[in-house]
Order: sequence, then C-alpha cells, then structure tokens
Amino acid sequence: MPEQIMHMGFDDTDSIRRGCTTYIAALLVEKLQKLNVNFIDYPNLVRLNPNVPWKTRGNGALCLRMKYNENLEEEIKEIAINTLEENADLEFKGTDPGIVFFKGIRIPKEVKNFAKNTINGIVSLKEAIKLLKKFGAEAVGFKSGRGIIGGLAAVGETLQGDHTYEILAYRVPENYGLKRKVDSASIFEMDKATAPYTFNNVDQEKRRIIITPRGPDPILFGIRGETPEIVKKAFTMVKPLEPIERWVIFRTNQGTDAHLKRVAKLSEVKPYHPVIAKGTVAANPKMIPRRHVIFSIKDDSAKVDCAAYEPTGVLRHVAMKLLVGDYIEVYGGVRAPSKKNPLTINLEKIRLLKLAPKIVYQNPFCTKCGKRLKSMGKDKGFRCEKCGSRYVNIGKVEVKMRREVRKGFYITSTRSQRHLTKPFRRYGMEKHGKAIVKLIDGWHFP
Ligand SMILES: [Zn+2]
Repeated sequence: MPEQIMHMGFDDTDSIRRGCTTYIAALLVEKLQKLNVNFIDYPNLVRLNPNVPWKTRGNGALCLRMKYNENLEEEIKEIAINTLEENADLEFKGTDPGIVFFKGIRIPKEVKNFAKNTINGIVSLKEAIKLLKKFGAEAVGFKSGRGIIGGLAAVGETLQGDHTYEILAYRVPENYGLKRKVDSASIFEMDKATAPYTFNNVDQEKRRIIITPRGPDPILFGIRGETPEIVKKAFTMVKPLEPIERWVIFRTNQGTDAHLKRVAKLSEVKPYHPVIAKGTVAANPKMIPRRHVIFSIKDDSAKVDCAAYEPTGVLRHVAMKLLVGDYIEVYGGVRAPSKKNPLTINLEKIRLLKLAPKIVYQNPFCTKCGKRLKSMGKDKGFRCEKCGSRYVNIGKVEVKMRREVRKGFYITSTRSQRHLTKPFRRYGMEKHGKAIVKLIDGWHFP
C-alpha cells in the first residue's frame, strides 16, 4: 500500500475555564501511534500573534506531521475529529475549533506566508478557506470555525530557522483545578544544571518558579529549551509531587520573537501588528494609575505612545528614567487607539541607543564663602544666607547630571514575557537555516 504524508493542524479548542489544545495533540500522538502512524516531526506548537483581540488563552495552534499507509486515512481523520470534539470546550462562547488536513510533503509558499501573517499580523477565515480550496486541503470547523485559521497557520509554519522545544507534562483529570504540586527546589536545581540550554524556568527577580501554569488547564508543567534532549533531561530532574498522566516533547516558535516585525518608520506602526521600531523620546515618562509608565517616541513620520506595565519589572524602571531626546528602539505589541488612549506600543523590550544629557539648572555658589546661593525671585539675582553677599547680574548654572540608566538592552521580567518573547538566555543561540529534525527515542509517554 502506498504511503501518504499529511499535516494535521488544529486550533481554538480551549477556553478560560478548561482545556488546552496541546493536550489534544498529546492524546492524538498516543492514539495515532497505536494505529501505526509514523510521525515525521515532533508535534509543532505554533504561537500566533498575541495581539489579536480575539485570541484564545495561550494562542497556540498545533500541527502533527505524519506518514501513514493510505488505507488508514479515513480512520486517522475520524480519530482526530472525535478527539477534538470530545475535548474541546464547545459550549464556551468564543471557542470555535477547527482542524485542517493538508496532504503531501511540500507546504506551498502561499501557505507559509499565510502562517507568517497569522504570527505577526492579522488574517481572515476567508483567506484561509481560499487557500484550502486552492490546494485541495480539507478542513472541519466547529461553530464559526475560526480555529481553521490557526490550524492552517500551524500547517504552514514549518519552523525552519530559529525554533525551540518544550516538554509538557499533563495532570490526571482528578487534579484539574487543584493547586499544582511540584517540588520547587528541584526546579531551581534543574534550571542551574541545564542553563543556558533551557529557559523561562524561574523568575530570578521574584525567586518564583514559572514552569507551572496557573488555572484549570491540564498542564502540570512545561520546560522550554534548545534541544529535545535537554528538555527531556530537565524533565527527569524535576520532582512532581502528583501523578503525571502523559508527557510530550513539542517543537515550537516560542522564545524566538517570531511575532515582531521591524518597521522603517513610526507611521508604519499599525494596530495588532507587533513591531520593532526606533524613535526619539518626545515626552518624558509619566506614571499612570496601577503603576504603569507611559511615554511617547517620534520620528519624522509620526509620534507613538509606548507603555510599560507594572509586571514588566525592570522594563518599567528603565522606562521611568527616560528623558526627552533619548534615542531608543522599542519592541512590542500594538494596541489600537481607543476613545481614551491613542495607538500604543505595549513594551516587551527596549534598547537604549543614545542617551540625551540630563541638564539641571542650579543656583550658583557664593564666591566668598562657598555656600550655595538663595534666589531672591525671578530675575532678581541671588543672596548668600551665610555671609550676606548679593549677586545681581548672574543666572543659574547649567549642570550635567549623571544619567540613572545606561545604554543597553532591557527585556521585560521573565514572569511577564509572552510565549514568543525571546529571553536573554536565548541570545546567541538562534538556529539558522533549514531545521534538521531527528525524533529522539522516547519523545512522548505513553
Ligand atoms: Zn557667602
């Protein structure tokens, strides 16, 4: 019987109250393996644009890429559709699952471009359907079928070039919603032992572990890293204090900054399109309620607001020290203008390229006794309180102060990083060129 290749993409199965699309992938890995399907890649976990207003919780779409005997095809599809239906939170408004079956080894350029646009911009279901028709792919949508967008995007994002891995461990259903029990000391030790090849395990600023999500989803913890071997090794070092039902290694675009696109001028900053942009600070930062910091940058083409929210930690502190005239590069998602606020870049990173001098004007010193003089009012000169000397024809002196920030690159705190944000630890570790994927022995359980 001839062999076939299929890319199966799916998305939008979870809700704030339950589920996780990665879990459906993990279930399918077990079921399809039993059917003698051969996976040709790790399940791909593709994080889509975190700035679209209608995103699902983690905004992660999944793709399983497989080789199989042609006569298994109907059964594979049936298992996939049933598993999706049984595990998706279909009653929840805003959960609109979709699944795409794309056959053939080659992914067309147009589908790859569609995927890129879904990661760093906005696409429509109409575009997705058009491509499905053009390339003879099949899709099943539940409710509005919006998940077909992410499904096709996951198919099209083949994770060439930079990519990372994540091992995800799942809880037994009895424990869903309960506090997660994992030995935190073992996580700090694992982080130390596997650094810099794993990332986002702990938040050093708050000495807090961040591999366990909060909320009712089935994930117990996830470890991110550069290779399948290192995430598996890290996994064996973490001590769970509750049963693990299953685990799977995923290949992902997490931690790669895939959502950010550089713009040449600020007039090109558009809502929902995450950007990297340069500009000069045009208004000094101000603190708004809830301890968020707002400032604006400009260039010849436009002026744009930037915001560093309270949980961004170090980023917020740096933003607060900026001065008019500083030349900076900003990284972040773009919020659409509202009645109350203009178009705003929500900062994930800042690079301070050139610092303007900080000038303050101070009263001069008394030339007789050395004490700093007192002003006698605007344009009325100065007087020494100690020796009584008066000075009429002198003004304030310009003093160059030390800046409280340094040129450099600042990234939002680990705890507030998005799935796609490239952390410090990954700089210099980017993968280039065609991805060479080799499935290690035992990349999933069961
Ligand atoms: Zn004096």
